Amino acid sequence: MVETQLRSRGVADERVLVAIGAVPREAFIGEAQRRSAYADDALPIEAGQTISQPYIVARMTELLRVGPGDRVLEIGTGSGYQAAVLAELGCRVVSVERHEELASTARARLERLGYAELVDIRVGDGSLGLREGAPWRGILVAAAAPWIPAALRDQLHPDGGRLVLPVGGRDRQQLIVVARDGDRWTETSDGPVMFVPLIGAAGFPT
Ligand code: SAH
Repeated sequence: MVETQLRSRGVADERVLVAIGAVPREAFIGEAQRRSAYADDALPIEAGQTISQPYIVARMTELLRVGPGDRVLEIGTGSGYQAAVLAELGCRVVSVERHEELASTARARLERLGYAELVDIRVGDGSLGLREGAPWRGILVAAAAPWIPAALRDQLHPDGGRLVLPVGGRDRQQLIVVARDGDRWTETSDGPVMFVPLIGAAGFPT
C-alpha cells in the first residue's frame, strides 16, 4: 500500500510513509471490510461515516508538517485511524468526535493498539476547535466545512501553525492548507477531495 498507493502518487515525506506503514489499518474497520483494508478506497464505518482513503490520510498528514512532541487537534475521530498515524509520528493528539458511539469505539481500539497515551478523544462539536489546548501546532479536519472556521485560524500557533481541511459543498471540496505567521494567514489549495460533511456551529446543519 505504501509503495503502490502513496509513494507512487507523490507522498514523499519518509516519516509519514513509515508511520502509515506501522499502523494496522485492518484494526480500524469491521469484519465485513477486512479484505479491503489496504485497498485504495474510503470504507464505511459505524454511524454512516467513513475511514478516509489511505492516500488522503497520508497527504493530509504530510501537509500538516508535524513531528515528535507537536500538539495536534483532529476534528472527526471516526475510526481513530488518522489519530493513530499522527501518534506514530510522535504527535500528542486531541481528537474530537460528535458521535459518542464512534468516540468510544475509537478510544477502546487505540488503547488496545497502545496509542492511548498519545491520543485523547473528546465527544462534541469540534467545528469551533478546542480553546483548551490552543494554540495548536496543527489542526486537521477530517470532515468537509462550508468555509474556513475563523475559530480554527485563531487557534493555530502564530509561529507556523498549520490547518488542513476540506472546504466546499456537501459533495465535493478542495483540500485547503492554512499556514499562520503571526497575524498573517496564507491559504493554498491541494486539489479536489470528497469528505463527509462537518456538522455543527461552523459546519453544515444536521
Ligand atoms: N479521521 C477519521 C475519518 C473521519 S470521517 C478516520 O481516520 O477514520 C469524519 C468524522 O467527522 C465522522 O466520524 C463524523 O462523525 C465526524 N464529524 C462531523 N462533524 C463533526 C464535528 N462538528 N465535530 C466532531 N466530529 C465531527
